[in-house]
Amino acid sequence: MDSHLRVGYGFDIHAFGVGDHIILGGIKIDYKLGINAHSDGDVVIHALVDALLGAAALGDIGLHFPDTEMCWQKCESRLFLKKSVQMLQKKNFSINNADITIIAEAPKLSPYREAIRTNLANDMEIDISQVNVKATTTEKLGFIGRNEGIAATAIVLIQKLAN
Ligand SMILES: [Zn+2]
Repeated sequence: MDSHLRVGYGFDIHAFGVGDHIILGGIKIDYKLGINAHSDGDVVIHALVDALLGAAALGDIGLHFPDTEMCWQKCESRLFLKKSVQMLQKKNFSINNADITIIAEAPKLSPYREAIRTNLANDMEIDISQVNVKATTTEKLGFIGRNEGIAATAIVLIQKLAN
């Protein structure tokens, strides 16, 4: 029998490059580096979109928003999130909650946490209490510890509404 509850998981990573800001959860954060990526390199939203699509068995972000298409290059990633939420709504899924972990040595993210939660809740059309954003480092170990890039994981629980 098909359960009403479904879980989804997403992971994304981008390398730091030349620049003066990064974008996380649609929030611009001033930093001494930028992100090497198609679109805006928003690891939070890319991980979250993969979690949502995964929970609904709708594939992944590359399938729906291939970065070979000019349209998506440097596009705002919040658009991917909004479109993914619409796809879930069309399949009669509602989002119970999302829990996101940002993994980076720098910059310090706590000042931006509430703004990121607010953006994600708005785009998913849920309450801010249903969205958690936390940040951790890798204790200076590995490529993230050497500050070569930034990663995010996301897990979501969604629910199929009765027809
Ligand atoms: Zn990405």
